[in-house]
Amino acid sequence: MEHKTQNIRNFSIIAHIDHGKSTLADRLLEITKTVEIREMHAQYLDMMDLEQERGITIKMQPVRMQYGDYILNLIDTPGHVDFSYEVSRSLAAVEGAILLVDGTKGVQAQTLAHLHQAQKQKLVIIPAINKIDLANARTEEIEQELKGLLGAEVEIFKISAKNGANVEKLLAAVINKVPPPSAPTELRRSKPAGDDDSLGISRALIFDSSYDSYKGVVAYVRVFDGSFKTGDKVKFIAAGKEAELMEVGYFKPQFAAQKELKEGEIGYIATGLKDPTLVRVGDTILSNYSLLTTDYSLLALPGYKEPSPVVFASLFPKDGAEFAMLKDALLKLKLSDAALTFELDSQEVLGRGFRCGFLGSLHMEIVLERLRREYNMSLITTTPSVSYEIVLKNNGQTQTIFSAADLPESDRYTEIREPWVVLTVLSPSKYIGGILELLTSRRGLNQDTKYISDGRVEIVYRIPLAEIIVDFHDKLKSASSGFASLSYEFLELKKGDLVKLDILVAGEKTDALSRIVPKDSVQDEGKRMVEKLKKLLPRQWFEVTLQAAIGGKIIARENITAFKKDVTGYLYGGDITRKMKLREKQKKGKKKMKARGRVNIPNSVFFELLKR
Ligand code: GDP
Ligand code: MG
Repeated sequence: MEHKTQNIRNFSIIAHIDHGKSTLADRLLEITKTVEIREMHAQYLDMMDLEQERGITIKMQPVRMQYGDYILNLIDTPGHVDFSYEVSRSLAAVEGAILLVDGTKGVQAQTLAHLHQAQKQKLVIIPAINKIDLANARTEEIEQELKGLLGAEVEIFKISAKNGANVEKLLAAVINKVPPPSAPTELRRSKPAGDDDSLGISRALIFDSSYDSYKGVVAYVRVFDGSFKTGDKVKFIAAGKEAELMEVGYFKPQFAAQKELKEGEIGYIATGLKDPTLVRVGDTILSNYSLLTTDYSLLALPGYKEPSPVVFASLFPKDGAEFAMLKDALLKLKLSDAALTFELDSQEVLGRGFRCGFLGSLHMEIVLERLRREYNMSLITTTPSVSYEIVLKNNGQTQTIFSAADLPESDRYTEIREPWVVLTVLSPSKYIGGILELLTSRRGLNQDTKYISDGRVEIVYRIPLAEIIVDFHDKLKSASSGFASLSYEFLELKKGDLVKLDILVAGEKTDALSRIVPKDSVQDEGKRMVEKLKKLLPRQWFEVTLQAAIGGKIIARENITAFKKDVTGYLYGGDITRKMKLREKQKKGKKKMKARGRVNIPNSVFFELLKR
């Protein structure tokens, strides 16, 4: 088929989690015969095992489809708040977005957040109400709600991604309403003077990447000008590096090599190089630029604002010798998870590792799981924490603290500040009582409560970030039978009446378990932590004391009794000397463990401990 930019449509599907994006993508893959029927399975674009197992989309996934005379480049996106950086990057590669709303749930927090992002990018928005096959779909009401948001004249599609009803109509609307690709206006201005095409430079924006053991570092790109061919010499502007293209291709959705990637297309570019720092999300790749003697940065396409991590935890290899492996794993993982940040960290007991920043606790959980599965890493993690700022007593300077373990003795600082956010909760109004109770129990301060349509309420609270990063979302769901949704934005660092709570396991202060908690609740919290630890920690060969302490003063205590398993129990009858030998051996083993006095704390404990 002849390449005509006029016939290309680039679009994303955006929605709150579970509203049916990946299922709608399935129907589009079928209609366009992109995936063979025998290969097809539900949520096909959720290509990681982890996504299939959990039933959620973690990564955006592009796919190129052909439909009649048209080339359709679709990007499926995640809907959970922790992965919204994936959504915002996908939106910079397209001209339109299908805004999908679950007909039984209505507009939820990420519906609004993603809609606002798409509007900021000036994308054409095609709203659709999904799941109209369900008896409890409130299609008419939600149509009104959407009209309130988008304007009364907007056409709203009513579909079932499950049974395919009206999906072809929606696809026709994408073709009719989304404009063919064009460069963003600020980009045209950034081009050197002269006719757009006369210089003949090719430019592509990197919106995502991955690591492939054969192709090396793979950049996912949207071509804005010109074309990219195998063998081309290219330049990565921000990375300041040059390379030769080993392969270019489309997403079908698997990599499908092509001779050339043309203007307006979405595809991938591989250099064969293994250096993970070559490719940076948001960077611009140039080709056919050799005649230019200019400042290359003038040619950069608008990149992305990097997201700020909200949760921090340090990761250490269980085996200190695997430090280099962990570093390599993090660099490669970052290629497919641009929101992940990490810096060197070293601690006395745990050795060398990395302090990582995450966009939320689900993000952290997924990263840990991917490191385990994809990179075979066996890790020790510290308790997830927000970052704090302290004012030092000796010089009045501020210092950022990423974990309780880094907090100096209380006489060394005059003030500690913690991050507060503005939290917005959308919910059917009948659940308001339970939700307000939850917010108050988490030190929240009411800012505004509005009824937005009949039966729906928007609750706005100011709340410390530390209170919502671990189990808040689950608690909110159970307070609202799954209907409430949330989004939040950083507000300020605010002075707090906070103290450090230490946990001693077998008499040894365990830095990884220390936490910064409000003074008011430290007594309860200390008691709760040791009680919970008692339940979570596996028994040892020796008795283990668990203590909670503030500045050396013990405030709570529990004991885990020792294992009494007698290894000789298995050897009924038989040789008495053998039994004695075994007992002797067991005694020595216990002594050795006791001497080390070390209790291995499983990773899951750190998360579980924080749940209330
Ligand atoms: P995503 O998180 O937006 O990608 O949502 P998914 O596509 O993973 O779908 C979430 C759940 O909703 C899955 O169990 C789907 O089977 C279901 N679902 C999606 N679309 C429809 C629909 O039109 N009707 C019904 N009944 N269920 C749907
Ligand atoms: Mg999905």
